[in-house]
Amino acid sequence: MNETEQRRHLAAAFRWTARLGLHEGVANHFSALVPGSDREFLLNPRGAHFSRITASRLLKLDAHAAGGDAHADADPTAWYLHSHLHRLVPHAKVILHTHMPYATSLACLEGFELQMLDQSSCRFFGRVAYDRRFGGMFLDDSEGPRLASLLADGVSTVFLGSHGVMVVGNTVAEAFDELYYLERVAQLHVYALGTGKPLMVIPDDIAALTCQQWLDYPEGPDLHLRALMGILDEEDPGYTS
Ligand SMILES: [Zn+2]
Repeated sequence: MNETEQRRHLAAAFRWTARLGLHEGVANHFSALVPGSDREFLLNPRGAHFSRITASRLLKLDAHAAGGDAHADADPTAWYLHSHLHRLVPHAKVILHTHMPYATSLACLEGFELQMLDQSSCRFFGRVAYDRRFGGMFLDDSEGPRLASLLADGVSTVFLGSHGVMVVGNTVAEAFDELYYLERVAQLHVYALGTGKPLMVIPDDIAALTCQQWLDYPEGPDLHLRALMGILDEEDPGYTS
């Protein structure tokens, strides 16, 4: 993986996220470390719509730059969050933040915890953290380190109470796959909770087994992103430019 490929993967993730309607205006942000670097990261420029992101439009920023040195074209909330997390969380090589509607609905429930309701839910077993201390927009140096402390090894997903979600991964394919399934699982939760009937929760030992089976599934996230890029290559090839 080189920087050009990383840029194309991230641009594809932006465009497909827009197709799924998981973006929020021009407010959400995805970032990815430049391959081979532990400090340079790619980020969508402020004001750019996800459906129009191209590989070359992605900003390249230094996670170790001081707050005041943030790139003028970066959204300030994106800068504060992503720079701290790329600096402090080694397994957060890719960070995707959205306000996608079903997952955010769950993030607004008092004391919410994701239940193991189906096979897809189980991929998140023991891999989810909850930030229940919404303190306004991420506009200072305090929120990033606090969220970084929630991202223990193996944690891929944070429900940001009263706000949205954040997903991290080692590759764009991995993080995007996680984001996709998180919203699908959240949608199922909202539907199941909406019936008002008792939930049939999968026991922990079966959930743990199923989670490991997800994690061991060969090339699952890569196949997913590759398939989406194949469609974009035919229908919307501008993302690679
Ligand atoms: Zn947000």
